[in-house]
Amino acid sequence: MTIRLMATPVEAPPRPLEVPQVPMPPPEEKPPEVASQPERQKMHAPQGPLKVVHAFWLAGMSCDGCSISTTGATNPSVEDLLTGTIPGLPKVVLHHPVLSLEVGEDFIRPFEMAEKGELDTPYVCIYEGSIADERIAKSTGGYFSAMGDQVMEDHKDQPFPTADRLKVMAEGAAAVIAIGTCATWGGIPAATGNPTGAMSVMDFLGKDYRSALGLPVINIPGCAPVGDNFTETVAVILMFLQGLGPLPEFDELGRPAWLFNETVHRGCTRAGYYEEGVFAEEYGDKECLVEVGCWGPVVNCNIVSRGAQSHMGGCMAAGGPCIGCTMPGFPDKFAPFYKTPPGSLISSTASRTVGFGIRRLRAISNHDRNREVRWDKAPGGVVPSGWGDVRKPGALDKSVHFFYEKLQFMGSKRPGRNDKHRYSTDLPPRARGMETPHDVSESEIRD
Ligand code: SF4
Ligand code: SF4
Repeated sequence: MTIRLMATPVEAPPRPLEVPQVPMPPPEEKPPEVASQPERQKMHAPQGPLKVVHAFWLAGMSCDGCSISTTGATNPSVEDLLTGTIPGLPKVVLHHPVLSLEVGEDFIRPFEMAEKGELDTPYVCIYEGSIADERIAKSTGGYFSAMGDQVMEDHKDQPFPTADRLKVMAEGAAAVIAIGTCATWGGIPAATGNPTGAMSVMDFLGKDYRSALGLPVINIPGCAPVGDNFTETVAVILMFLQGLGPLPEFDELGRPAWLFNETVHRGCTRAGYYEEGVFAEEYGDKECLVEVGCWGPVVNCNIVSRGAQSHMGGCMAAGGPCIGCTMPGFPDKFAPFYKTPPGSLISSTASRTVGFGIRRLRAISNHDRNREVRWDKAPGGVVPSGWGDVRKPGALDKSVHFFYEKLQFMGSKRPGRNDKHRYSTDLPPRARGMETPHDVSESEIRD
């Protein structure tokens, strides 16, 4: 009995491998279908509320990073799903090669029951890691990624590749979820120079694949993915299975649309620096990271708005530029990492040019908004701060603000200027028993 064997060919004779061509679908004449609606005729929605759903986790060419990020999810957490504490949702029974308590045949038996259609409840397949072309390993008598054994025609046991297991289980699964960039798009194992023929679950199952519910492969990319992106997607699929919610919307690549339809840049905490044309020159600087290699403006990912875990962290929050790890073109189309993306030369030059003036105008407004109205009225504009001297507005500040306020209050009343209302004129300090720093009379109060 073998559980989760390493992705290394065994007893391979030292001879060069011939990499077979990965079968590709013929060129499309029509744009790809948006998979937001299942094919009604193929849907076999469960009758009535479910109590239990099985989740079978299969791993190919993976580093286990997706498992680790998933176990760190908090909203909902894996524990929430496994214990069935989310109201209305069924309990998830997870069969995971690392996390399950069962071992050996006890662990493999539910997989075999699902393959034979003997489970009396729906199941989903979750695939982590890319799928190696097992024909390459087989040509040398080895295998790349396997879990459990299979009995061959010669009645000998051989490791059962997880890719083959997926192929068998995918037909009956309510959904197949590819987690992480290796499973969704091939990822690092499928980069240039890949000797294993590694590919994604989509490439492996093909364009025509549909689950028992009529769904194409659901893709949750990221290297590693945001754990909450996965658990939340599972939760909304379960709500759909329970009849508690609609089928969630997926984009044309099977990504949960509500999680991946914005770019990193739009949610980035450093985007204000980009807009004002201020860029980091070194790692560790607080400004926009585009010139040290950030691809955020063209990458679909929600890690900065959602956080890596518990709404904490995320690449830019931790000081790292985006290298596009959620994208189908990763890694080859984003290499070399940490080099200024060519497209940013135009946009960052434009930001610099416009930002130069905008930054200065904003600094004047920011300085003004950092002052109480009362301080402006005090003689000399003195701010009673014991922390230090606050710069008084200069002639430029005052003239900019004269016109600024004209625009701001155009068509409306400005308190204290063109209506009868006046702010109280007692100047600081007002605490009982304290002396005033200036002898201020009513006549000295400026309008
Ligand atoms: S660090 Fe990247 S994502 Fe953030 S503002 Fe700069 S370019 Fe955009
Ligand atoms: S910000 Fe970029 S590098 Fe970071 S997780 Fe998202 S896609 Fe990957």
